[in-house]
Amino acid sequence: MAIRSAENAQSAALRKDFSLLIGGELVSSERRLDVIDPALGTVFARCPAAERPELDRAVEAARSAFPAWRARSFAERAALVKRLSQRLREQQNELAELLTREQGKPLAQSVAELDRGAAQSDAMVGIDIPVEVIADDNDKHIELRYRPLGVVGIITPWNAPVNLALGPLVSALYTGNTVVLKPSPYTPLTTLKVGELLNEIFPGGVVNVLAGGDELGAAMTAHRGIDKISFTGSVATGKKVLASAAATLKRVTLELGGNDPAIVLDDVDAKAIAKKIFFAAFVNSGQVCMAIKRIYAHESVYDDLCAALVDEAKKAKVGNGLDPTTELGPVQNKMQYDKIVALIEDTKNAGATFLAGGEIPSGPGYFLQPTLVTNIADDSRLVQEEQFGPIVPILRFSDVEDALRRANDTRYGLSGSVWTKDLERGAEIAARLEVGTAWVNQHRTTSAFVPFGGAKESGLGRQYSVLGLKSYMEPEVVSIAKH
Ligand code: NAD
Repeated sequence: MAIRSAENAQSAALRKDFSLLIGGELVSSERRLDVIDPALGTVFARCPAAERPELDRAVEAARSAFPAWRARSFAERAALVKRLSQRLREQQNELAELLTREQGKPLAQSVAELDRGAAQSDAMVGIDIPVEVIADDNDKHIELRYRPLGVVGIITPWNAPVNLALGPLVSALYTGNTVVLKPSPYTPLTTLKVGELLNEIFPGGVVNVLAGGDELGAAMTAHRGIDKISFTGSVATGKKVLASAAATLKRVTLELGGNDPAIVLDDVDAKAIAKKIFFAAFVNSGQVCMAIKRIYAHESVYDDLCAALVDEAKKAKVGNGLDPTTELGPVQNKMQYDKIVALIEDTKNAGATFLAGGEIPSGPGYFLQPTLVTNIADDSRLVQEEQFGPIVPILRFSDVEDALRRANDTRYGLSGSVWTKDLERGAEIAARLEVGTAWVNQHRTTSAFVPFGGAKESGLGRQYSVLGLKSYMEPEVVSIAKH
């Protein structure tokens, strides 16, 4: 199928309604999904919802498009990805507003998500995946090549729908795979709009975008025509994905939840680091897989850090993300809001101290103030579970070995951080965190060139970097006898 001209792409505006993308066509469906604005708690848009017949058509289209797409060079595929980034930048305002309406995050953060997605996409297609020569002598030549897997199914969550789709999408496309992408039913709209841009740029069938419910995700993981699943979401669903993928021995990448510790050592200037720690915990109202979810502070800095974090919590403006002064938006959906409210109740019943927040406001929308909790037991739900919302415990320690033991005493292992003026000591302690990424004096910094993923139950495999790209490919040894 012909690729539309760059001029057309430049002038094309996004359509007013929402469509699925199947085999190069923007199509509707009988079933519809209601999409709620979390700042209002009411439905503000509807979109088509795919079911099994649409999935079968999308997989068929992706399989048909695969031979021609894999035959293109990395450079050709990279050029189309760069056009996508360009279009994302051109449509940034429109897409960011839609993202804020469906997801709830402040507009500036929606813009940042799109910016970051475009920049990471551009960076990723600059990574080389050369043929590796393992041996070459008089008798033999052995090399390791990487070839695309086929059709990749990408399933995403609701907290950063654009960025979490673009990472796996660009990885899959650049390495020569075709794609069926399914966003979360809570936040399908911006991804469907990105589908329109994809349709301007990529040959029909190379990318298919299907909004749909959880059962559509389950059908993807079981589908015989899909060769790999790249899943981002909760640990519980990740386990179902892995079990379902076993039947067809699909390749899987699982990016799952976290319960990230931050260990604050005795030598810090609490006031100076409080803002960084606060926003690493509460950005997107705590709905970030790698957000700080437990703060362990040394007893000598504990009171100062608590006071400085409370200052930040009191200053942070919670509100509708469309208001430019808002710093923290609502919780994204009613299910998650109810979960956090129950966690607040449980924490109150456990007799913990609330330094900030903890009230359940009346009124429309799923708003909660940033909530800081002390005097809470290690075995409480708030410390043990992934809260994924604006409530964070601050725990005291006197011995760093004890802090490390408690930080690692979890089935999660996504990331963690150590805060100190002594970088060498910080690096040593960070290396003992049982996580996929351990930061020193920062938290949440990622890059297209750095592998990201979870240890323990926080995931399987890595995204980004050469390591991530190779997970969308099958290694193949070619071994030649010279005589
Ligand atoms: P979720 O697991 O409920 O849903 C994620 C996606 O999976 C959705 O598209 C959903 O429709 C689909 N799905 C549901 N059931 C399925 C099934 N049986 N088979 C296949 N797909 C199915 O997660 P969520 O509530 O949307 O997202 C929040 C979670 O995502 C948190 O735990 C968070 O930590 C995690 N997360 C992880 C990362 C990471 O990179 N590690 C990034 C963002 C979010």
